[in-house]
Amino acid sequence: MKNILVFIEHKQAKIKSTSVELLGQAHRLAKELSTDVHALVVGHQVDEIVEQVSAFGVKKVFVCDQENAATYHPSVYADAITDVLQNETPIALLATAGSSMKDVLPKVTARLDWVMISEGIDTAVQDGRIAVKRPMYSGKCTAWAQINTDTPAIFTFRPNVFEAYTGFVAANAEKVAISVSTSLSEQWKCVERIAPTSDKPDLVEASVIVAVGRSIKSAENFAMVDQLASVLEAGVGASRAAVDAGYAPHSMQIGQTGKVVNPKLYFAFGISGAIQHLAGMRTSKVIVAVNTDKEAPIFQYADYGIVGDMFEVVPMLTESCKKLLAE
Ligand SMILES: Cc1cc2nc3c(=O)[nH]c(=O)nc-3n(C[C@H](O)[C@H](O)[C@H](O)COP(=O)(O)OP(=O)(O)OC[C@H]3O[C@@H](n4cnc5c(N)ncnc54)[C@H](O)[C@@H]3O)c2cc1C
Repeated sequence: MKNILVFIEHKQAKIKSTSVELLGQAHRLAKELSTDVHALVVGHQVDEIVEQVSAFGVKKVFVCDQENAATYHPSVYADAITDVLQNETPIALLATAGSSMKDVLPKVTARLDWVMISEGIDTAVQDGRIAVKRPMYSGKCTAWAQINTDTPAIFTFRPNVFEAYTGFVAANAEKVAISVSTSLSEQWKCVERIAPTSDKPDLVEASVIVAVGRSIKSAENFAMVDQLASVLEAGVGASRAAVDAGYAPHSMQIGQTGKVVNPKLYFAFGISGAIQHLAGMRTSKVIVAVNTDKEAPIFQYADYGIVGDMFEVVPMLTESCKKLLAE
């Protein structure tokens, strides 16, 4: 029977919330298409992940558990995904539009000569096929796209785009072990894995983000936004200008050449709103901008705007939020 396959991303022995979100949307689609939801887990020593997958109503879970998959490797991941897609031919593969899937899925798609739609923000079933809504031209417009071939569709979705699914019914998922004999190129190997030093939520998964621009003026001044982030349990992001100035690492950059985020609440402090920054955050549910320049382009996209100096506004916001949350 055809099915919808979800690629499961995991970290520190836990399924990422972005994958849980996709499992929920897969169930909604599967219901409309009268099919099942399957999952694919790649990694090393992933028994706990496989156990967790069963709680999400998955009928079958493909598991590629091998040492060279312990950290992300494009060739190993590409081989594992290709193997399952070729042998199982699901209706569609759903994956999160994060850095590893952006890297590996075009490779898989080209290898199979299939079609991929990336960065989806919504789905619908139209004429018995899955259609995906996606932003185009750096978010200037959106379009519904559909794959009209009989090969499985490969879709990636931005995080935080689907409502939480409450209908999961735990099932005893059938486990199917797969292994791939990838010949690892010396040109690409993981030499060291550096864990993020920040205790803040991962930007891609965060439901609240506070982001700052070049006008933060120094790395030390991030302490001010860190305090607000701690109160709001928010992720901390930066514009490219702030990153290029050396105030923040590239892992914090949001935008066309940084991370694409989609939180419920996005604070832009001293960020002008260049198109390349908007490309990474424009689909945030609520945008709050603070800028000294009332003509700054960010105000055209903000739901709430404060014309003011962030060095005055951020501490006031921090205090107000602290009080409100303590009530
Ligand atoms: C190919 C390409 C890719 C790019 N990719 C990205 C990307 O991924 N992400 C990204 O962000 N940019 C990206 N850029 C850069 C982008 O074009 C902008 O240069 C950048 O976003 C500007 O960052 P900024 O808003 O922090 O700085 P600025 O443009 O310098 O704006 C600073 C803003 O802060 C305001 N301000 C100053 N002082 C204060 C204060 N005390 N309080 C409040 N407001 C204040 C100013 O009024 C101004 O609006 C890219 C550019 C190119 C060409």
